[in-house]
Amino acid sequence: MLPLTADTIRSSFVNASRKEVSVAGLPDDLDTRDWDSLDYLGWHDPKFAGRAYAVLPAPDGTPTGVLLRQSNASPQRRQICEWCRDPRLINEVVFFSARRVGESGRRGNTVGTLLCRNFQCSWVVRADPPAPYDGFDMDADRRRRIERLQQRVAGFADMLVTGR
Ligand SMILES: [Zn+2]
Repeated sequence: MLPLTADTIRSSFVNASRKEVSVAGLPDDLDTRDWDSLDYLGWHDPKFAGRAYAVLPAPDGTPTGVLLRQSNASPQRRQICEWCRDPRLINEVVFFSARRVGESGRRGNTVGTLLCRNFQCSWVVRADPPAPYDGFDMDADRRRRIERLQQRVAGFADMLVTGR
């Protein structure tokens, strides 16, 4: 994804109030991130327990900031993350909810999704599984995994904004 600055991130939020955006704790390593190996940026708020954020490139590439709330339920080890869909279940997967955009969100409507607890999806899709057979084209497979993650992330951003 394209590199993000603190200003870009703060102005990208679609489902957070001005107050929520102004108090949001941002990652302090934006300058040193390997953006080429990231399909979206996700992090937990260091100050507010249960509050997390993800900046997702929309289908047209626009950074879409999403405020997420982590469910209090204990981590689900046997669940699949809906973004990276890694069948190896390497990560803890937890339930997050995102307020819908606009009037619907103000009435309290949310969208729930199961995600890698620490938003490691980009790493997961780049971590090759054992080749299923000799001559398996791992590079093509990895490109497909990355592409699918990017499509799901963009789809989530689009769904949140358009309500569809
Ligand atoms: Zn994931």
